[in-house]
Amino acid sequence: MLVFEKSRPGRGVSALPECDVEILCPEDKDLRKTELHLPEMAEVDLSRHYTELAHKAHGVNDGFYPLGSCTMKYNPRVNEKIAALPGFTDIHPLQPVRTAQGCMKVIKETSDALCQITGMSDFTLQPAAGAHGEFTGLLLIKAYHLANGDTQRTKIIVPDSAHGTNPASAVMAGMEVINVDSDDKGLVDLNKLREVCEVNDEIAGLMLTNPNTAGLFDPNIKEITDIIHQCGGQCYYDGANLNAVMGWARPGDMGFDCVHLNLHKTFSTPHGGGGPGSGPVGCKEHLAKFMPGVKVVDFDEHSNTNMLSFAKAEESLGEMKNFYGNFLVAVKALTYIKMLGKQGIPEASKNAVLNANYMMNKLKGAYDMAFDPKVCMHEFVMDLSRQAKETGITAMDIAKGLLDNNIHPPTMYFPLTVHEALMAEPCETESKETLDHAIDVFLQLNELAYHDPEKLHQAPVTTPVTRLDEVGAARHPILKYEF
Ligand SMILES: *Cc1c(COP(=O)(O)O)cnc(C)c1O
Repeated sequence: MLVFEKSRPGRGVSALPECDVEILCPEDKDLRKTELHLPEMAEVDLSRHYTELAHKAHGVNDGFYPLGSCTMKYNPRVNEKIAALPGFTDIHPLQPVRTAQGCMKVIKETSDALCQITGMSDFTLQPAAGAHGEFTGLLLIKAYHLANGDTQRTKIIVPDSAHGTNPASAVMAGMEVINVDSDDKGLVDLNKLREVCEVNDEIAGLMLTNPNTAGLFDPNIKEITDIIHQCGGQCYYDGANLNAVMGWARPGDMGFDCVHLNLHKTFSTPHGGGGPGSGPVGCKEHLAKFMPGVKVVDFDEHSNTNMLSFAKAEESLGEMKNFYGNFLVAVKALTYIKMLGKQGIPEASKNAVLNANYMMNKLKGAYDMAFDPKVCMHEFVMDLSRQAKETGITAMDIAKGLLDNNIHPPTMYFPLTVHEALMAEPCETESKETLDHAIDVFLQLNELAYHDPEKLHQAPVTTPVTRLDEVGAARHPILKYEF
């Protein structure tokens, strides 16, 4: 039941003091013509309403949630506590810099830490999401080519294993996308890449996700970036999800010129319904002069103080967002980085990779693994084509079966290169007991597929709603309550 349906006239939770100033009414033309339908409820009913809604959803606090860092890994509570400190919340972006030194220090320390983690020399926190970061990075590459007089460099290579936002961002940046297929191991096909790059002075660069969207680290990564550089292109690293490599391998060392990170994935800040995102962009020195926004620098040469101050890049491409990006997201990410420290960052990656490999190996046999890798990185992709052919049970049916076992389904039908894909990313925080339980459930569901598929077709039966008309919901969404 919606909050509007529970509303009863006259009930409420507000207790405003009597007005002690003159009441001024806007002019008639500015007054609303229809009634304002605010729900009217007692506090207890409102409180129950939200608790009831919470019970209907499955979150990371309810049980295993193998959508991993890419969607929502466990976000330590301390991040929220720090980000709620009044020194961080009660500020204004236009207040004098001498009164905002602490917040500026956060921006600087976050940028510096991200530089160290990625092997870049400069970072901007302005972009508000991963795709926004991609767009920013591509504009940097574009500015670089234009400054060199290379106006014809408008084509960007995007392998078919890329995240869907990559080609979209490239088109937004006014570039033409050249698709390069993966080989049968799910990696970039070097021969095809060489073919595209041969005598092509129109190549602006390459966008790559590594580990790729199938959870595989491309062993030819250095060769790939060399091929692009040899033809005069720039290399962009989609680092939305750094969970597998942070503290172990750096995009900068792999030969990439710029990178974006999703603080709202790897660096544990809630997103989606839970909060705003942040997709900082890092670059090497030759791109730094085009960076957007302002950078926090050690001191202001002109005023000769040792306060932190702001500086704009020489040929800055402008503003990607107002002021300093989603600042509180950076506070949370910096808290996470500082809590883990130099030892904890690589350890988190190590556990994420270990957990994914443990699960993958226990499920091998029952489930076919796409590209059948010996080891995976932070995630692995099951391919249920065999089950679909032999039993009629699809990735969707297994996902629905998981719901009845209090497990959130993994990512379904992605990557697109695998037909009946279930992509699981358990993450570093899950215990062996949780993984063992999830493995048991996956194995039981596979048994059920072969022995009682009809039962799986019925799933889920324990959730507030069962199978939904997903096509109908996508085609005819009802997004507004009609009074
Ligand atoms: C999530 C993701 C993105 C997009 O990030 P948004 O914040 O959703 O815009 C891009 N690339 C990869 C690999 C991702 O996982």
